[in-house]
Amino acid sequence: MNKKYDYLVVGAGLYGAVFAHEAKAAGKSVLVIDRRPNIAGNVYTEETEGINVHKYGAHIFHTNNKKVWNYVTKFADFNRFTNSPVANYKGELYSLPFNMYTFNKMWGVVTPEEAEAKIRQQREEAGIADPKNLEEQAISLVGRDIFEKLVKGYTEKQWGRDCKDLPAFIIKRLPVRFTFDNNYFNALYQGIPTGGYTKMVANILDDIEVILNQDYLDRKEEFDSMADKVIYTGPVDAYFGYREGYLEYRSVRFETEVLEQPNFQGNAAVNYTDRETPWTRIIEHKWFEFGKDANGNDLPKTVISREFSSEWKPGDEPYYPVNDEKNSELYNKYKELAAREENVIFGGRLGEYKYYDMDAVIASALEMSEKELGR
Ligand code: FAD
Repeated sequence: MNKKYDYLVVGAGLYGAVFAHEAKAAGKSVLVIDRRPNIAGNVYTEETEGINVHKYGAHIFHTNNKKVWNYVTKFADFNRFTNSPVANYKGELYSLPFNMYTFNKMWGVVTPEEAEAKIRQQREEAGIADPKNLEEQAISLVGRDIFEKLVKGYTEKQWGRDCKDLPAFIIKRLPVRFTFDNNYFNALYQGIPTGGYTKMVANILDDIEVILNQDYLDRKEEFDSMADKVIYTGPVDAYFGYREGYLEYRSVRFETEVLEQPNFQGNAAVNYTDRETPWTRIIEHKWFEFGKDANGNDLPKTVISREFSSEWKPGDEPYYPVNDEKNSELYNKYKELAAREENVIFGGRLGEYKYYDMDAVIASALEMSEKELGR
């Protein structure tokens, strides 16, 4: 049978878009489909009141991978945004990640030596040699004050459980810096694509046929008959009709509001680290682009999103894979099934049930393209 396309790409997120671009550049015919009404997958941004709103959670591009940086900057100009979140503990504000500003605010210490001594003293006071749970692990790493004000409430909201009931291994280390450096990501390259991620992905998909609002699994046979090979970036368990069971995720719920004021919190991200505030973070989207519109004008309004950690149940939007033993075992079963699927390549965060940062998913798509397309 003569097929129309060399490749059918299921999913117009970063993985699918990068592969489609590479395939097209290699002279192949490609069709991209997505079940959503928009391209860009989870990095989708939508303009509201002149502000690019990150619809599926705040996305900050950061990488040490020069090849990936050179690649993405072909499709977008990046601004100089630096992620410097602020922690709000019952109205007290602290710099993140833990650094000299944090320690000065917490204890009034001025020199790195004083800060190190304070943390050492609190660790010794706690006297925990063999941490039995997350609480003991955190206290043994950073002492009681930082744990109580900046770790405990936030972690409990994220996991929906008391830190005493969470395993110690979740936090292997808690980065502390004895410098005045608020730059959260220690990456060589960092920024936000000017004009939003959707525009960047549209540029990657330039000249490629994309059909939206199409669920591949609803009409699998028909779609399969249209191409020699399928690149599938949807959930791997869904592909196999969940026959081995559901892979679990942690979910996030967003409540987004337009406010009739120019500045709500003065920063893109504020983490609420107390237990009582129900949300974990508030994102004020305009600060990813310094509060300016596309023409460099100040914006009169603002858009904020409160983030709530929530339990995931089948049917919810999958966010973070839960890479515990049970889910890893289940994924391995699906991985075996996937390996037997001729003419289908499973990729990306859902296809491989893996947390990928954006740079890593792009690197992975480029690597697979090289293998598949020989370029
Ligand atoms: P996706 O973007 O999920 O794309 C998959 C696409 O497949 C979707 O569009 C989906 O609709 C489509 N699809 C699925 N099933 C079907 C089907 N049956 N038929 C048709 N289409 C289908 N990374 C960073 O580097 N920095 C950050 O700050 C950052 N923040 C994040 C915040 C959150 C809350 C989350 C969850 C992730 C964050 N990431 C961040 C990671 C980033 O989102 C991922 O690296 C990236 O989205 C992965 O791209 P993908 O193409 O693999 O998946």
